[in-house]
Amino acid sequence: MIRKPLVAGNWKMHATETQALTLLEGMLPGLIEIKDVDRVICPPFTALSIVADQLTGTDIYVGAQNMHWEESGAYTGEVSPLMLKSYCQYVILGHSERRAYFGETDETVNKRVLSALSHGIIPIICVGETLEERESGKTEEVVQRQVREGLKKVELDHSKEIIVAYEPVWAIGTGKAATPEDANSVIAHSIRAVLTTEFGNPVAEGTRVLYGGSVKPDNAREFFSQPDIDGALVGGASLKAKDFVDIINAARP
Ligand code: PEP
Repeated sequence: MIRKPLVAGNWKMHATETQALTLLEGMLPGLIEIKDVDRVICPPFTALSIVADQLTGTDIYVGAQNMHWEESGAYTGEVSPLMLKSYCQYVILGHSERRAYFGETDETVNKRVLSALSHGIIPIICVGETLEERESGKTEEVVQRQVREGLKKVELDHSKEIIVAYEPVWAIGTGKAATPEDANSVIAHSIRAVLTTEFGNPVAEGTRVLYGGSVKPDNAREFFSQPDIDGALVGGASLKAKDFVDIINAARP
């Protein structure tokens, strides 16, 4: 099964509108040239409109970093799928920073996933174990549970796509990446295995699974050479135009 590589840049809570434009300007010439990798930029909510505007007419996608599951309502501070739909093709859901600092649970991730899919937004569902869970031998149990619960009641057919990002929490923003072999093994045995059980082999084989956690230009190629890693969710390095373009180039088949 050939899966087109995908690299998404998570800008997190960085970049005002002006900074977003400068950053985008720096990477755009490089991004435009690469056709054989799907490229997704995930700026903060306040820069979505301006980034989407700049990317009109290109084949570069825009993603949000979170989304409420309701279409509208008394949810102060939240942003709904209807609000995002005109700017975004993708949305990052269940990032470990949202789970750790904002009370996100498997249940609320699942609500967001169902809502994104019903509004035609492709969810990038983040899963991954903490250092404590890894050291106590719980990686498989935790990752399998996050995938299973995050995808509860989801029906996948040809018109619906999900992306899963395996992001071991201890590797995010720390400079300590997982080994490519280890990340590949978790993806194969804990993520694709659950996808196979829940949705069958064609979905499991067709779903793109990314690695995330301290991906840099100098380690990207090793991750992308693993058979079950189809790209990356990149945090820190996506804020440096050249590094981000270099990582995407490393993902080319
Ligand atoms: C992330 O935020 O999803 C991430 C992987 O961050 P970093 O690349 O900085 O580790």
